[in-house]
Amino acid sequence: MKKIIVIGGGAAGMIVAGFAAKNNNSVTLIEKNPTLGKKLLITGKGRCNVTNDSDIENHIANCVTNGKFLFNVFHKFFVQETIDFFENSDVKLKTERGNRIFPQSDKAADIVQALEIFLRKNGVEVIQKQVISIDKIQNKFHIKTLNNTIECDKIILATGGKSYPGTGSTGDGYRFAQKFGHKIIVPRAALVPLDIKEDFPKLLQGLALKNISIKILNQNNKIVFEDFGELLFTHFGVSGPLILSVGSLVKNIMNHTLIIDLKPALSKEVLDKRMIKDLESNSKKTIKKLLKLYLPNKMILIFLNLFKIDENKKCNSISKIERMSLIHLMKNISLTIINKRQLREAIITSGGVDVKEINPRTMESKIIKGLYFAGEIIDVDSLTGGYNLQIAWSTGFVAGNSC
Ligand SMILES: Cc1cc2nc3c(=O)[nH]c(=O)nc-3n(C[C@H](O)[C@H](O)[C@H](O)COP(=O)(O)OP(=O)(O)OC[C@H]3O[C@@H](n4cnc5c(N)ncnc54)[C@H](O)[C@@H]3O)c2cc1C
Repeated sequence: MKKIIVIGGGAAGMIVAGFAAKNNNSVTLIEKNPTLGKKLLITGKGRCNVTNDSDIENHIANCVTNGKFLFNVFHKFFVQETIDFFENSDVKLKTERGNRIFPQSDKAADIVQALEIFLRKNGVEVIQKQVISIDKIQNKFHIKTLNNTIECDKIILATGGKSYPGTGSTGDGYRFAQKFGHKIIVPRAALVPLDIKEDFPKLLQGLALKNISIKILNQNNKIVFEDFGELLFTHFGVSGPLILSVGSLVKNIMNHTLIIDLKPALSKEVLDKRMIKDLESNSKKTIKKLLKLYLPNKMILIFLNLFKIDENKKCNSISKIERMSLIHLMKNISLTIINKRQLREAIITSGGVDVKEINPRTMESKIIKGLYFAGEIIDVDSLTGGYNLQIAWSTGFVAGNSC
């Protein structure tokens, strides 16, 4: 019987430990938090977007960094296996918009609980301590915690990335891997909100816009990103699924321009015709009231103040210039991006252990025999939609079954 130690009790670590123990190994999982799955509990706004019901090609296309590295693990444990795993653990799942899969209960805690039961059923020992250092002496690994050293035959690093450090992912695993000679691709923020120079977002904080389109222009006014979806205004700038994708896909975004089109389905001309008609048929109403047909409430006064239009002005007194200004703004809110928010605020860390030094069929280090990796510690990162957790499940399953 081999003695295996898994470091990190997040999504990847729990899956690894359970499967490694199923294969008749003696497995210990070491987690520095007093509870397991702290980050998992906050995934999907507490609902946990477990995976995405789409094919391998789509998962790889949504992987921003090193998608092809995942081909092998996805072939061994993919969406159906993930669904079966949780449904056989009594967590019923449901599919929502964009093929996103969630627990029917909308509770991430049910996912964590299923994983805890999986660990218990397979006899995994759980130790709540922080690993300080790891050495390999002859064929054995020596794992040092604050007051103890444990010896084992194989070790799996599932310590996550460096984002949301309050959940425990503080980049310790990078240090351990580096000491064994692994190259660490510099950790960077991925799926990250953006800081905006103007006060406009601050005034609208909390407002979520659906079905809008955005463009990102670089300093030469060249479009480097455009897409359609959902955006959220915050006290510092902008966030929401569309913006998080920008944060992953556009590398150097400092001083780029964000253009928001609130009415992507309508051309300026069509919008103008519609407004002329509405101004005529509502001639006695105030412009403030009419704009409710066009804008979210929170935006109306901001739009009117920007052009110094009196909110009580009657529709029949609105000038052509005022009308055109309002329409122009609806199609072209232009904001200056200062930069991405910090890594600690990113949903995902891009960077980590270089995939060139990991065997894609087993997740074993190509440098140190008996050392394996799983989850976000590896230099892979995907867009939103359940793709990142699928990486944790797939790499975790393969590492657990290979060690
Ligand atoms: C707000 C938020 C929402 C998200 N929502 C989704 C979503 O809905 N769907 C999705 O697919 N992805 C989502 N993600 C991403 C997803 O959570 C991660 O990809 C996933 O949790 C990575 O799992 P992991 O096990 O590799 O790392 P982690 O979950 O970070 O786990 C690593 C564990 O290792 C422990 N550890 C670290 N160092 C040590 C040490 N020295 N000793 C002992 N233990 C240690 C940590 O305490 C931690 O518990 C979200 C992320 C965030 C931040």
